[in-house]
Amino acid sequence: METQITPSNEGIIRAAQLIRDGQLVAFPTETVYGLGANAKDAEACRRIYEAKGRPPDNPLIVHIPHRDDLSGLMRGAMNNQAERLLKAFWPGPLTVVVPCGGHISSVALGGLDTVAVRCPSHPVAQKLLQLSGCPIAAPSANRSGKPSPTTAEDVYEDMNGRIPLILDGGPASVGVESTVVDLSHEIPILLRPGAVTHQQLEHFLGPVTLADDSTPARSPGMKYRHYAPRAPVQWWDTDDVDQALTRWQSLAMPRERYGLLASEEIGRALGPALFYNLGDNDGAAAQNLFAGLRTLDRERPAAIIVVWKQSTPLGAAIANRLAKAAAPNPTGDDNE
Ligand code: AMP
Ligand code: MG
Repeated sequence: METQITPSNEGIIRAAQLIRDGQLVAFPTETVYGLGANAKDAEACRRIYEAKGRPPDNPLIVHIPHRDDLSGLMRGAMNNQAERLLKAFWPGPLTVVVPCGGHISSVALGGLDTVAVRCPSHPVAQKLLQLSGCPIAAPSANRSGKPSPTTAEDVYEDMNGRIPLILDGGPASVGVESTVVDLSHEIPILLRPGAVTHQQLEHFLGPVTLADDSTPARSPGMKYRHYAPRAPVQWWDTDDVDQALTRWQSLAMPRERYGLLASEEIGRALGPALFYNLGDNDGAAAQNLFAGLRTLDRERPAAIIVVWKQSTPLGAAIANRLAKAAAPNPTGDDNE
């Protein structure tokens, strides 16, 4: 199959037609690029798992154009707190898990009786949802296990030959995937940190439990390998230039073999051969993280070293991705 990259304004009509025809389309959202299919069409949803190499028990996030469309997909009703949360953050980088009450394909649900729903703010995602006229199931448009794509070129690298169309809407503005909060329990559970922070969730919902990776997976995706480039990743949890320099000087292999993803200040002090600027604040680091991992990885370094320390609540989302990118892969599964 030939994969076309088209500027989103030129390709959107064809994209909506492809979605209606049960095909896949990659499209920009404010978080990362998504790989979309009609969420009501089992065969179309199956194509997503196949294109990504995603395990069938890892459910997909279902995208809707408007907050009001949620009631048609869920069983029961939102309480007032959750209503206010959605008023504050939808459309935007927040996904809620609720009891499923709509006609979503069980393939998209990965066999669960809950559904994860998001209303994205990106104008291209909005337009695609409106023109398609159906909820769109869309995980990140990467091959399972790889860093999520934040540009159309990154999608192409993973999906070339697997899907007919990529809509190019420029780089994603947030850069990390949506916050996922499970509202199907009495006490909500934060399943994945994102741009909407734990503090912001608690402001609206009261106490929100943090999901613990060590307990049996509450969100199926939590048990799989994530965000990993080919090269091993080391995360140095510091923003201290001298500390970073000392560690850099004691590396086992010649330093030109390593890729460095860090602030410009640290890059300048360490003087690496292979460098990608992560930026000097958490907002920039979120935007640059996946692009940096992918760009450095193309140079086939012995390892990628990320020097970064959390300084704001948004940093929890970056720390979560980095810990997974740097985790060993004990099972050898190259999965989501
Ligand atoms: P992705 O779309 O690839 O960014 O991943 C979506 C994340 O949402 C994965 O970690 C899924 O396991 C999680 N997810 C999707 N649906 C549900 C659900 N019904 N319950 C819990 N987690 C879910
Ligand atoms: Mg993903």
